[in-house]
Amino acid sequence: MIFSAQAQNPNQGATKFQQLYQELPTPTTYRNAAGAPGHEYWQQRADYDMKIEIDDEKQRILGEETITYYNNSPDALTYLWVQLDQNVRAQESNSHKVSTGSVREEMSYRQIKSQWHNNFDGGFKIEAVTDRQGNKMNYTINKTMMRIDLDRPLSPRGNISFKIKWWYNVNDGGNFGGRSGYEYFPEEDNYMYHIAQFFPRMCSYNETDGWQNKQFLGRGEFTLSFGDYNVAITAPADHTVGATGELQNARQVMTSTQLARFEEAKNAEEPIMITSQAEAEEIEKGKSTEKKTWIFKAKNVRDFAFCSSRKFIWDAQGVKFGNRTVMAMSYYPKEGNPLWERYSTRAIVHTLKVYSRYTFDYPYPTAISTHANFTGMEYPMICFNFGRPRPDGTYSENLKYRMIGVIIHEVGHNYFPMIVNSDERQWTWMDEGLNTFLQYLTECEWERDFPSRRGPAHKIVNYMRGDKNNIVPIMSNSESILQFGNNAYGKPATALNILRETIMGRELFDHAFKEYSNRWKFKHPSPADFFRTMEDASGVDLDWFWRGWFYSTDHVDISIDNVKAYRLNSHNVEKEIALQKEWDKDAPKGISHIRNNENKEVKETLMEKYPKLRDQYNDRDPYRVTDRQKQLSEFYIKSLDEKSKALLEEEYNYYEVQFSNIGGLVMPIILEMQYTDGSSEIIHIPAEIWRQRADKVTKVFPTKKELKAIILDPFLETADTDRDNNYYPQRREPTRFEMYQNN
Ligand SMILES: [Zn+2]
Repeated sequence: MIFSAQAQNPNQGATKFQQLYQELPTPTTYRNAAGAPGHEYWQQRADYDMKIEIDDEKQRILGEETITYYNNSPDALTYLWVQLDQNVRAQESNSHKVSTGSVREEMSYRQIKSQWHNNFDGGFKIEAVTDRQGNKMNYTINKTMMRIDLDRPLSPRGNISFKIKWWYNVNDGGNFGGRSGYEYFPEEDNYMYHIAQFFPRMCSYNETDGWQNKQFLGRGEFTLSFGDYNVAITAPADHTVGATGELQNARQVMTSTQLARFEEAKNAEEPIMITSQAEAEEIEKGKSTEKKTWIFKAKNVRDFAFCSSRKFIWDAQGVKFGNRTVMAMSYYPKEGNPLWERYSTRAIVHTLKVYSRYTFDYPYPTAISTHANFTGMEYPMICFNFGRPRPDGTYSENLKYRMIGVIIHEVGHNYFPMIVNSDERQWTWMDEGLNTFLQYLTECEWERDFPSRRGPAHKIVNYMRGDKNNIVPIMSNSESILQFGNNAYGKPATALNILRETIMGRELFDHAFKEYSNRWKFKHPSPADFFRTMEDASGVDLDWFWRGWFYSTDHVDISIDNVKAYRLNSHNVEKEIALQKEWDKDAPKGISHIRNNENKEVKETLMEKYPKLRDQYNDRDPYRVTDRQKQLSEFYIKSLDEKSKALLEEEYNYYEVQFSNIGGLVMPIILEMQYTDGSSEIIHIPAEIWRQRADKVTKVFPTKKELKAIILDPFLETADTDRDNNYYPQRREPTRFEMYQNN
């Protein structure tokens, strides 16, 4: 469908305010124009049955999985695509080839080794792909993707089960980082495993992208189907294993003391130790040669991850949602204390409560935070978080708040994208932006003046006014984003906060945001679904906002260019002439006039020399009220009707203010008008003031008071990047510069 030509002139409101017809996909029966799932919406499903073993001798993960794939699409599928994320660590990986970098004057062994001498034998070793009957299936591996060819097409509403057997070497996350991996503790010869993206996973297939088989390069995360998981993890018998889902065989793997404590934790007001630090310190001294198998079941999740170690301290606390109890739990080594026992589980409980209020009740049975010092990374029901005190147990203020912040953030990811399941490989902002926004609201409820890094409008200003070569629109593919944190976390989180506080107001925003969350929980929303729902549920046309904040790199810089003061001519002649006399007194005089009169350079004028030459005009008082003037005034007043006369008597001041939009991003104009009587007033003008001319607008403010000053954006809510032009009379934001000793 063709709607209209795109308006082009950026100085015109028509460009800034045109609807997003060209940018958004045409609504369909799968995704409707209101931003909701359409009446024919469908999504695929993948169930996993897995046997996993941790090889603690060689740091390997071995697995056998049966995938049952349900084709709910209307299409017959001739092949299936499976993601092999571990292959980013393979020697032949494209992520190594396309990585960029430069030599720095000082570099650590780790930096040099990991960038240029990486001989780690990573990647999946696929041992077999077989069908239900055990017959080999044909498959082709293309880097991080594997295509499995089917003998017969998988028909609509059909399903297929097949088995993959594999193993891989676990990467050294402790030394070289990563989203998952192991950390080695050399003093005790112990390992701590945080394992994710560890099994071949079905690619998603949908009506917008077909198979989402875009290669994994390491940054653009995942897009996955929901399904049920049944996972048996075999580990050394002295390991504690935490994972996505509910533990099915607690009696086999936990002691009776632990089970009793776990029961107590369900109704506890504070975290209860399941394994205390003293107990964990005893356990980690041994090295069992026995094995134990932990069995987990998870329903309706898009992924599965786990942690395992003999070092784990384990605490838990129940959180009530109606008559359901969700277990908030933390797993951490003694090295995490005292921070972890004090804050981790508390942060989970707090996050679940606050996020649920803004979205929906947390639907899963558990929420785990586990301590991996090299990452902050989220998976369904479990996340890996940094934040380790110094060896003597002391820690900085910064570390404390970053640790609490990362736990809130990663636990928060359960909502976006684990449940509201957006395509992370394409759009980072849809999970990171929304999640960082809720993280900010959650931090505000943790502690007043929590040092949040992202959320408030004024914190994005430096990024927004930066070099435009180094800024891309939020609506850019994950792999191509420049300044990742600012672009995909900070800017969208700030944009949502601005929508909530300034553009829509809290009530309309919160309702619409909740509507989006509920429409798309356990489904796969696209950006258009978010944009459309926010408008549809609030009755606020936000296309200009999405266009400016999500599709452009414009910034906000509105300036007060000029203020003119006017008043109505009262036609009260005495009064007006007295006023004129006042104005004339202050009016600037010409230089010759000043020199001639005040410096007395002209000693005597001709008229002074010959006074008899003077006539009536020489002595005229220019401010004398003449009868003729009086008559004209009376005549004018008489001609007015009562309403006009009344308005005249009100004696309004009319302040004409000229604004210009320097940054290009159209935004509301928020003004604090300060008056000479000491009072002030806030005026909030919606962004639509720019709907015709987007570069300059003039507006008149009538008031009986006398204006003393105007402050534009007095509460720092629009991310205005240059505040020097936000004041009338002009005022400079105070700044310092440094002098240094020159010797
Ligand atoms: Zn995140």
